[in-house]
Amino acid sequence: MQGLQLNDVYKSYGETQALNGISFQVAPGEILALLGPSGCGKSTALALIAGLEAPDRGAITWDEHDLSGVPTHLRGFGLMFQDYALFPHLDAFENVAFGLRMARLPQEQVARRVNEVLELVGLAGFGRREVQALSGGEQQRVALARSLAPRPRLLMLDEPLGSLDRALRERLVSDVRQILRQMRQTAIYVTHDQEEAFALADRVAVMNAGRVEQSGDPQQIYRQPVNVFVARFLGLSNLMAGEVRLVDSRPVAFLPIGQAPAPGMSPGKATFLLRPDAALLDGSGTLQLAGQVVELSFRGNLCRVVVSAHGLELSFDFLSSAPLPTEGQPIQLSFDPTQALQAFS
Ligand code: ADP
Repeated sequence: MQGLQLNDVYKSYGETQALNGISFQVAPGEILALLGPSGCGKSTALALIAGLEAPDRGAITWDEHDLSGVPTHLRGFGLMFQDYALFPHLDAFENVAFGLRMARLPQEQVARRVNEVLELVGLAGFGRREVQALSGGEQQRVALARSLAPRPRLLMLDEPLGSLDRALRERLVSDVRQILRQMRQTAIYVTHDQEEAFALADRVAVMNAGRVEQSGDPQQIYRQPVNVFVARFLGLSNLMAGEVRLVDSRPVAFLPIGQAPAPGMSPGKATFLLRPDAALLDGSGTLQLAGQVVELSFRGNLCRVVVSAHGLELSFDFLSSAPLPTEGQPIQLSFDPTQALQAFS
């Protein structure tokens, strides 16, 4: 296996088990997002990969070579943090040149490479600007250029956009993706923001309590979360306890909101997810749900409708352009169970 591989890696700090048997890989040219709540071990994983800390157990390899004896500066990896700490007394050019000068590259090569990456991040002609005279987004681009300049074989970005406002972050996410793609840069992008992870990564690894719960391409993870943790973390919160029973030898889901055919599901108790994007307003689904609209919130092209039914609060997303229900009014929704229902045992 080419690229980076973590195999059953453990790391504890005193009583805290920061990494608990984590395994994942990053193929050459791939952008992997490590997605998980604060404290799940994302930064610890990066510190181990960078060689700033050593694992208690487990292997970290690059192109199948064990990295355990390799010091940080010989790993050829780059890091970019949220607190990117540009040197305030240097201009943009010198900030980007820093690593190249440390590597004692000849002057003309430094100049060529710095100008190349400044152009790549959309800052051609900004080289002689003082970094304090740059906007937050521009400073972020300088930091990205600085980490790309030495051509790291792996670039690790730890919540790099965390300190920026939402609009700027959204714009930079797609720029960063484009820049990394263009350079075919192998990268790990750490974030607790699922939208950022989905927008940026080729593959997402959802972490919880020091290990990976699920990894796959963004669409696959969103369509098929493997357990309640992943579903909840992705905001798929319409979860309810139920049971699959055989009726006339066919599996049927018995839910607080009614019964539905459950083809392929095994009998037994389970937690069910009712997908927020699968509610139908035209009554065409076989699973019917009558409730009361308790809240309506617009999110641009989508509108989230919170419905109270059978003692549950359930959220559904509709296109804002659709005819929408009114707050406080009764509502009748229906679902195609094969699209709308998922069970976690
Ligand atoms: P994340 O990056 O996902 O927020 P971290 O890797 O920073 O998570 O932390 C994982 C766990 O390890 C947390 O409980 C954190 O408090 C703990 N931890 C991380 N670094 C240290 C450290 N140097 N000393 C003690 N505990 C640490």
